Amino acid sequence: MEQLTDIVAVMVSVSVDGPYSYRVPAGMVVYRGSIVAVPLVGRLTLGVVWGAPKDNYAHNRLKDIAQVYEVPPLSEELLKTVDWVSRYTLAAPGLVLRSVLRSTEALDPERPLVAFRATGFEPAKMTPARLRVMDVLADGSAWTKTAIIGGSGVSASVIEGLEKAGALERIEIPAPPIVEPPDPEAAVPVLSAEQAQAMAQIREIDVSGFGVALLDGVTGGGKTEVFFEAVADTLRAGRQGLILLPEIALTHTFIERFTRRFGTRPAEWHSDMTPAQRARVWRGVLSGDVRVVLGARSALFLPFRELGIIVLDEEHDGAFKQYEGVNYHARDMAVVRAKFAEARVVLSSATPSVESRNNANVGRYSHVLLQSRFAEAAMPDITALDMREEPPEKGQWIAPRLAREVFATLDRGEQALLFLNRRGYAPLTLCNACGHQYQCPDCSAWLVEHRFRGVLMCHHCGHEQRVPKACGACGAVDSLVAVGPGIERVAEEAEARFPGARKVILSSDMGSNAQIRDRFAEIEKGEYDLIIGTQLVAKGHHFEKLTLVGVIDADLGLAHGDPRAAERTFQILTQVTGRAGRASKAGRAFLQTYHPTHPVMEAMVKGDREAFYRYELASREAGGLPPFGRLAALIVSANEHDPAFAYAKSILAAAPMADGLKLFGPADAPVAMVRGRHRVRLLAQSGKDFDLSGYVRFWLEQAPKATGNLRVQVDIDPQSFM
Ligand SMILES: [Zn+2]
Ligand SMILES: [Zn+2]
Repeated sequence: MEQLTDIVAVMVSVSVDGPYSYRVPAGMVVYRGSIVAVPLVGRLTLGVVWGAPKDNYAHNRLKDIAQVYEVPPLSEELLKTVDWVSRYTLAAPGLVLRSVLRSTEALDPERPLVAFRATGFEPAKMTPARLRVMDVLADGSAWTKTAIIGGSGVSASVIEGLEKAGALERIEIPAPPIVEPPDPEAAVPVLSAEQAQAMAQIREIDVSGFGVALLDGVTGGGKTEVFFEAVADTLRAGRQGLILLPEIALTHTFIERFTRRFGTRPAEWHSDMTPAQRARVWRGVLSGDVRVVLGARSALFLPFRELGIIVLDEEHDGAFKQYEGVNYHARDMAVVRAKFAEARVVLSSATPSVESRNNANVGRYSHVLLQSRFAEAAMPDITALDMREEPPEKGQWIAPRLAREVFATLDRGEQALLFLNRRGYAPLTLCNACGHQYQCPDCSAWLVEHRFRGVLMCHHCGHEQRVPKACGACGAVDSLVAVGPGIERVAEEAEARFPGARKVILSSDMGSNAQIRDRFAEIEKGEYDLIIGTQLVAKGHHFEKLTLVGVIDADLGLAHGDPRAAERTFQILTQVTGRAGRASKAGRAFLQTYHPTHPVMEAMVKGDREAFYRYELASREAGGLPPFGRLAALIVSANEHDPAFAYAKSILAAAPMADGLKLFGPADAPVAMVRGRHRVRLLAQSGKDFDLSGYVRFWLEQAPKATGNLRVQVDIDPQSFM
């Protein structure tokens, strides 16, 4: 590695457009990628040495690098990824770098632990408690205070007393590793013929080269075993691995499976961790001590030194898109990073994104299919219940036929699931005296009643108010009525209709992550007969006794007027119906719908997912939508509507002409106000080979600058139009 001297460019981790030049003081050794602290507007800021300076600066105008941290330089592939993500998303490179650097805590050397060992000196007074301590330390090893207390059952004061008496001495020992290295040979599984075939296909991508495999297989088809073997390959080749999951809070079963396969827990990276835990993982990844990380999307920016594989489980999941700060999609950026790192990518899903399916269809990705169910259970038998033909009774939400199926399932001692992807009691609350509808004061959204907690709540900003006794508009008392069903209302109906069944309600607002994990464990043990839940229940859980799934409103997702509405609906319906019959029993699912002839419903009922992909790809191609075209959104916001709209118009007026480019808007966003900010959207659509990021960058340079409380946010490849 080339040592850099004299003057260097340093990328600081703040929102600026490029690196600044700094002087390397005499005696300091830096390389490209070295992590440093530099003075910036009166204080020290973290940064990374980016290379030789672009401009010629006079020495006397430059400041010195204040400190270089004693950690290895960041890898070349990570620096290139930062540049690429910045260019693509239009986020400032320093802002992308902040996703990498995070905390200074991780940069300081790890603090050693304080431990005690016997000095060999025997104190005059020996009590039974003191003897127990001396027994524990008899072999001369050093133990921490906590470990001595655990091993001997004494109190801390006994240890302190022995130290004072001269029988024990305090020493420092290195902290144990955050996780033991995973062993690729710990429990090598016997793969089925089909899994072995899938693995052979993945192995066609060189373990030290770049390539993407789409591991496309039904829920319960054994995809995890396969990608674990791909991770094992990487470990054997001496490289590091990253497994990204969408909902990290719900992965206790996943961690157990990893632990069984590799003989040790993976290092984790997610929001439930303390800053100290994160700092240890970060440091371990950079030093190379941590070999595999299991993490949420932000783990993509961890400082791996020898990254050899990135696995995205549930690659289609919307949670891989980040909307705050740097607006990136972890799936797409994973492919970019893997290319720079010459690493393999495995994208795993039962319902791949339309983009990934297209990449597989055209041969850009290797298409690895796992079609048969692992335990050879049949795919669920799916029936559409036409709500125009056999609607529920007035004031109810469960159709008579579905209710009969629930009874029959419970009678057989099996589990049933009622699914509605809507939290709360009712999506709309109004006064039946005057018709007043309860709306969020800060957003253009109705307030959702959460009856269990006695509040009306905005699902966009979290605003909450007590359910009022009297109408705020006309003063009528007890006049509020709920319109439409939420999951709590379905639960209320189920309570009345299936009184003997042991029920559990699962919704993300129903408790802490730990409480929700406990509910899942209880369901797996068969402690409930009837599960009533939102999309929380759709993912990644094996419920052996579950044989019936009823979807209360299968049309819900189709109501969103954006290009991915059909895809998301297909994915969630496939996932939730896939909960039925995962062990040895065949499952059944019922979809309550007003649109039984919609291509999504027809593909579900026929069990013909290829029909869905054909339909969706054809309609995207006809509309020039991704992956056949490209989209970029500009979201203009302000405290008032009219200035936001006027500013959006002035941006549009500044748009440079370009061949094959279409511009739409300005238009009020579907959720026109969020947290008191009025939102107006502009949309740019281009052909797939057009440099849309470059165009938008140039466009915004021509446009008038945002002043006052005006903001403009760029969303390349928007996933929704909200
Ligand atoms: Zn009223
Ligand atoms: Zn709100």
